[in-house]
Amino acid sequence: MTNAILKPGREKPLKQHHPWIFSGALSHPLKVDPGSLVDFVSHKGERLGRGYYNPKTNLCGRVLTFNPAEDLDRGFWHKRLESALGRRASLLKQKAGATTGCRLVMSESDQLPGLIVDLYGSWLVVQVLTAGMDRLASELLDPLWDLTESLIREAFDPDFRLEGLMERSDDAMRLLEGLEQKVLVRRLAPGKSPPTEPVTFLENGIKLAVDLLDGQKTGSYHDQRDNRQFIGEMAKGLRVLDCCSYTGGFTLAAIAGGARQVVSIDQSATALERLRLNISRNFGDAPQADAWTQIQGDAFKVLRQLDADNERFDLVILDPPKFAAKESHIPKAARGYKDLNLWGLKLVAPGGFLATFSCSGHINPDLFQKIVFGASTDARRDAQISRWFNQGEDHPVLLSFPESHYLKGLLLKVL
Ligand code: SAH
Repeated sequence: MTNAILKPGREKPLKQHHPWIFSGALSHPLKVDPGSLVDFVSHKGERLGRGYYNPKTNLCGRVLTFNPAEDLDRGFWHKRLESALGRRASLLKQKAGATTGCRLVMSESDQLPGLIVDLYGSWLVVQVLTAGMDRLASELLDPLWDLTESLIREAFDPDFRLEGLMERSDDAMRLLEGLEQKVLVRRLAPGKSPPTEPVTFLENGIKLAVDLLDGQKTGSYHDQRDNRQFIGEMAKGLRVLDCCSYTGGFTLAAIAGGARQVVSIDQSATALERLRLNISRNFGDAPQADAWTQIQGDAFKVLRQLDADNERFDLVILDPPKFAAKESHIPKAARGYKDLNLWGLKLVAPGGFLATFSCSGHINPDLFQKIVFGASTDARRDAQISRWFNQGEDHPVLLSFPESHYLKGLLLKVL
């Protein structure tokens, strides 16, 4: 394997098990194909880890193992997948079939950089983000299939069989890696056909329909599962505004929890259409018709309009998309979060709550709290922090890799 040699003084992050190598840390670029396996070596020749390398990207190296003696063979991949899936066993067992979807593999957090695997009921969705993982992925799919079936059979359904495995490799990050975007069916169980309708899985007993072919990301957002449950439990009797609702994760939890009324805002008509379907699948059409309203539009405008109309809510949820995809986006993203939170806070009735989230890894919790503080000052609304929200346990955070903590949120009691 080719050696990728680090400049003097640049080996510390690797020694501390941070899995990323930027091109500026290497003594010279390598002339190898994108995604080639390499050994990362200090300038003194000490072997620090093995991984893959892409000369086309600034984040050019990702470590697969910090044990330089480990062979990257079939057994290695099997062990990696087995560990990742094993980490989800207790979650699935505890939920005992009330939750039939979760993230099974989370990239660097599971020492499988560039690979995301989500389970939705009897379907697997794989997303491959890097050239290195693109070269390896085909080998991983069959073991992934078998290990998933064993996991679910043991956790809650002895007769479980997967129906199919989709690849949703259409994330924009692939373009940076020099890869094409693609969506394809990778494997189907005998007698099964590709999904033409949304497939359904359960989250804390709530049915969620997912578009495997063209939903956002891999189809849904498992990372908010616990936070949705928490919001559902506090929603009884409340008038709730779910801003950036997508297909209704928070809306459905709030209705199930007995909210008096829920208003859902999203700019995507397709997401709201799916939300309507989710509501009728869970609650039927009749009683909820009055209790739920949708507004399609740009949240920044809709929140201002609701304020102008003097609408007030007991609980406002803000769960916008990632505003900062890279470090240089931070100032603009901060302005976006501040504006959204300012108008969100204005809409909270006195004594009510704001649940506000950021899924931008580049906005750390400290900065996020400062941004929300700025918004509360401008909105002239004092608030107490009731709790911090985080991503669910199936999206593990590595202590050595703080970038893996991307989803954070605050529950504020507005005074
Ligand atoms: N809360 C959701 C996930 C939200 S994902 C859940 O629990 O599943 C972010 C959502 O914000 C997407 O559905 C996207 O369509 C929507 N969105 C993005 N920009 C927006 C804008 N400016 N105004 C309103 N919605 C927006």
